[in-house]
Amino acid sequence: MVLLSQAGDRLACAGHATRPAALSDLDFPFTVPADGEPVEILPGLFWLRLPLPFALDHVNVWLLDDGAGWTVIDTGYGDERTRAIWDRVLAGWPLRRLLVTHFHPDHAGLAGWLAAKVETPLAMARTEWLTARWLAQDTSDQLLDSADAHYATAGLSEELRRRLRARGNAYRRGVALPPASFARLAAGDDVTIGGTGWRVIVGEGHAPEQVTLWSAERNLLIAADQLLPRITPVVGVWPMQPEADPLGDFQRSLEGYAGLPADALVLPSHDRPYRGLHLRRRQLVDHHAERLDRVIGLCRAAPTTAEVMDGLFPASLDLHQRGFALAETLAHLNRLRAERRVERWREAGVWRWQAV
Ligand SMILES: [Zn+2]
Repeated sequence: MVLLSQAGDRLACAGHATRPAALSDLDFPFTVPADGEPVEILPGLFWLRLPLPFALDHVNVWLLDDGAGWTVIDTGYGDERTRAIWDRVLAGWPLRRLLVTHFHPDHAGLAGWLAAKVETPLAMARTEWLTARWLAQDTSDQLLDSADAHYATAGLSEELRRRLRARGNAYRRGVALPPASFARLAAGDDVTIGGTGWRVIVGEGHAPEQVTLWSAERNLLIAADQLLPRITPVVGVWPMQPEADPLGDFQRSLEGYAGLPADALVLPSHDRPYRGLHLRRRQLVDHHAERLDRVIGLCRAAPTTAEVMDGLFPASLDLHQRGFALAETLAHLNRLRAERRVERWREAGVWRWQAV
């Protein structure tokens, strides 16, 4: 499975995009640079957009002046096109430090490859490094068996399950093996980059321990996928932890940004830098509250998880998007179960859900 956040236009049809009217309330001060061309948007801070081979066609990475060299935040996807861009960009930019926000392939894809060019260890949260290091190497049948068992209990058709299994471990396709050692970043840590202080704020829900960086000095938040301006990050339950409550984690994590100034500039990993952090937080909270209500409405006639998914998402989704849709559906069902608003039971090996 590829664990990426998804594209705006695709998500709009999947019902994930927040109301377009809200867009005008966010302020986007910069124009989008060409892919592969670093642009200095603030003193000593460059925005580099890297292409992605998905519906969501780009990821933003940040280069920060770190005195004798540059600190790079995130790496892009692990393909030849991205390596070629880095080879060209880094020719003029001595790399000093590498920091990766979370394990997803569009962020950590080249962590192993870029880390080999730096003298200090890759900086990452422990759970993110462990997950990347594990998933990039797991070729076991057990991984696919357990995912298939998960999809069976969700009530997915045999045909869909066969196609999902045939993808194998898709994570490995986009991720060079991450390094065998790392430097741990944890919530509340203070990090100095080029004389500027940054505080680590961990955002859960989209990824287990996603690192975001706040600089009070510069009134800047490097937000990774936690606070994207126009699309919502995938908050999903994955086969490796079917009982997880990532939406609860996500909602709680958003409160970790409540004390930041309203006019802070947010640097997201997709789309454009923006101002309007608290408005965006509220939109994300409201978006999921609406989705929870919709899911409750779909749980009147004891549906399977797959049936709830079909009620939430259009049938036209491709296989890749369908994996996300199921994960999102379960995230909402598990949250409702934690709130005791739905109950579930097993019938012929398949979970059924009922509004309480
Ligand atoms: Zn992500």
